[in-house]
Amino acid sequence: GVNAQPQETIDGFHLLIEALKLNGIDTIYGLPGIPITDLTRMLQAEGLRMLSFRHEQNAGYAASIHGFITQTPGICLTVSAPGFLNGLNSLAHATTNCFPMILISGSSEREIVDLQQGDYEEMDQLAIAKPVSKAAYRVLHAEDIGVGIARAIRAAVSGRPGGVYLDLPAKLFAQTMEATAGRATLIKVVDPAPAQIPGADAVKRALDLLKGAKKPLILLGKGAAYAQCDAEIRKLVESTGIPYLPMSMAKGLLPDTHEQCASAARSFVLPEADVVLLIGARLNWLLSHGKGKTWGGNGHKSWGKQKFIQIDISPQEADSNVKIDAPLVGDIASCVAQLQKAVDAGWAKPPKEWTDAVAAKKNGNIAKMAETLAKNPSPMNFHSALNVVRDIIKANPDAMLVNEGANALDFTRSIVDMYKPRKRIDVGTWGIMGVGMGYCVAAAAATKHPVIAIEGDSAFGFSGMEVETICRYNMPVCIVIMNNNGVYKGTDVDPTGRDPAPTVFVKGARYDKIIEAFGGVGVHATTPDELRKAMEEAIKSRKPTLINAVIDETAGTESGRITSLNPNAAKKK
Ligand code: ADP
Ligand code: MG
Repeated sequence: GVNAQPQETIDGFHLLIEALKLNGIDTIYGLPGIPITDLTRMLQAEGLRMLSFRHEQNAGYAASIHGFITQTPGICLTVSAPGFLNGLNSLAHATTNCFPMILISGSSEREIVDLQQGDYEEMDQLAIAKPVSKAAYRVLHAEDIGVGIARAIRAAVSGRPGGVYLDLPAKLFAQTMEATAGRATLIKVVDPAPAQIPGADAVKRALDLLKGAKKPLILLGKGAAYAQCDAEIRKLVESTGIPYLPMSMAKGLLPDTHEQCASAARSFVLPEADVVLLIGARLNWLLSHGKGKTWGGNGHKSWGKQKFIQIDISPQEADSNVKIDAPLVGDIASCVAQLQKAVDAGWAKPPKEWTDAVAAKKNGNIAKMAETLAKNPSPMNFHSALNVVRDIIKANPDAMLVNEGANALDFTRSIVDMYKPRKRIDVGTWGIMGVGMGYCVAAAAATKHPVIAIEGDSAFGFSGMEVETICRYNMPVCIVIMNNNGVYKGTDVDPTGRDPAPTVFVKGARYDKIIEAFGGVGVHATTPDELRKAMEEAIKSRKPTLINAVIDETAGTESGRITSLNPNAAKKK
C-alpha cells in the first residue's frame, strides 16, 4: 500500500563482505580494477584491512603465507583475465605448499565468455584455475554467496590445506536481495578444519617400529609448523630423546640451538638413521625422494635398512617415493597426542652410542662454522654478513625472517638459528624466487612483529616494486639485499663481448636508493659493522628500511646447494 516501508535490500558486494567477516576474515590482499574496485573500497569501509599491491602475484604470495602463519585462508582479490593470471601463480604455489588460500577474482559475463564473443578481459577463469587449485567454484547468484564462501573456506583449510579459486562474475556484485533474507543465506562455518584421529592399529604399528629403533630420527616439516601444536611436538621430541632435523620452515619449532637438533649433522643422520619419523614433511626432492646417496643407499631404498613412519593428514602421501612402513594418517596434533600417551606410559631413550655420535658430528661442524663466521674478509662475503643477521635474530627472536635467493637462501638457512615456531618463511616446496616482498607485507600484517628479509639481489628483483607498498603502509620491514652483482655470482662474461652475461646485473647497483624514493630508509653497507648498525636501527625505529649489503661478487656457487639439478652442460664449468 501507499504507507508500506521501502524494503531494505543488500547487494552482492555486501553479502560477500558480510560472509567474509562472519568467518573471521580480517585482511584482504589484492589489487583494484574492473570489476572489483568498488569492492576494495567497501571492504575497507566495512572495517576489513584491504592491503593494495602493485602486482597481483605479490598480493597472492602474501595471501598464501598469511594462510601458513594463521591457519586461516589468506584471501587474494584480483581483477579478471590478466590480473587473475598474475594471481594464479601464487594460487598454484599455495596448493603446492599446502597453504590455505582463496583467490577471489572478478570475471566477465558468462554469456559472452561461453560464446567467446570477445568481452572485456574475457577468459574462462574457472577452467584455467582448476588444475592448480585444490578446489574451484563459481557463484552466479547473490543468494549463493554464503555457500560459495563456506565451501571455499572448508576446501582451503580442511584436510591437506591448499589453494582455492572463487570466481565472481561482475554481474553478481550488483544483484540485490531483501536484506533479512539475504543475511539468512550466509554461513558461519562450524569446525572448518576438523581433527582427524588416527586409527589405533596405525598408532601401534608406528610405536612398535619406533621402539625397536637403534638409530631413530625425527624429521619435522612445515606441516608440523603449520599445525600449531608447538608445545606438544616439543614434548614428544624431548620425552623420546630422539634427535630431530627441522626442514627449512620448521626451523624454530624447537629452538635450533636445542641439544637434540641435528641440523649441523644432517649429512650424517640421514644415511645413518634406521627408523625415520616424518612429521608433516614430504619425501620430495628436498629430501632426495627418500633414497639414493643422501640416504646411504647404494641401490634401491627397498634394499636398505631404513624404515619410515609418516604422520600426514593426506592418506595419499605415503609411498609417494619409497615404502612407508607405518603411515599414520591424521592431523599432527591428534597423532602426536596418541604417540605421547604411549611414551608417557614408559619409554627407553635411544641408545647412547647413537645420540653421542650425532652430538660429536654436530659439535665438530658447529666449531668449524664458528671459525668461518669469525673471519672478517674484505669485501664482505655471505658468511660475514650473515653472522650479523644471526646475532640480530638471536636478539630479536620474535622477528619474522623472510628468505629467498640461491646462495642467500642456503647460507641463511644454515647460519641463522631460529628460536620460535613459524618465524622463518621462505621459498618453500618449489624453491621459487619472487615471494619476498609479498611475504614481508603479510608477515607484518599478520604478526605485527618486525620483519627481516634476507634477499639475493636477483630474488629481490621479482617483487621489488612492493617496496612502495611496504612504505605506504609504513610496515616494520628491514630488507637486506645480499648484493653480489648477479645471479649466483657477478663475475660471468659474455664470451662474444657484446652484452652483459645473462646472470649479471648492473655492477655496484644501489638498491638502497629504491626505498628512498618512497620515503623509507636506505643504507649502503660495505662492512659487517655498517650492516649491524643499520639492522639494529631498523628494528628499533620500525621504519621501512632497505640495506644494500655489498657482497664479494666472486662469492657464491652455481645454483647454491642444488647445482646437481642443472642439466650436464651447465655443470662443466
Ligand atoms: P617440508 O617442505 O617442510 O618438508 P612439506 O610441505 O613437504 O614440508 O610437507 C608438509 C606436509 O604436512 C604435507 O604432506 C601436508 O599434507 C602435511 N600437513 C599439513 N598440515 C597438516 C596437519 N595439520 N596435520 C597433518 N599433516 C599436515
Ligand atoms: Mg646475487
